[in-house]
Amino acid sequence: MVGPWPAAPYTFRALRKTFGSMWLRCDSCRRFAPLRLPPGYLDRDYRTVSFSCSVCGGVAEHTVTHPHTETGMDDYREDVREQPERHPKAHARILGADRQPGRASEFVPPADRHKFGRR
Ligand SMILES: [Zn+2]
Repeated sequence: MVGPWPAAPYTFRALRKTFGSMWLRCDSCRRFAPLRLPPGYLDRDYRTVSFSCSVCGGVAEHTVTHPHTETGMDDYREDVREQPERHPKAHARILGADRQPGRASEFVPPADRHKFGRR
């Protein structure tokens, strides 16, 4: 018997239900790590969450495929640290200390702009 779909659209919960494991990947460092979400993140819209690399502070790509199954990524090393610290550069970005006009980090999806009074 099939029950109702247990997850709202565009949530990490829906992705996990569809694809199973997820990873974060840094293409600069050529590293990856299993995605471990903080409490409460399973029901967040994955399109509005960004990730950063704990080593270089750059963008970490969220992916539903293991990098070793992708062409040209078999040299990516897995980060096995249990609790990696956020990179200071990424921390400053989150706090807005590096804020400049027109940055992609300030992008608000069109559907959410009314919440912030933006156009
Ligand atoms: Zn990196």
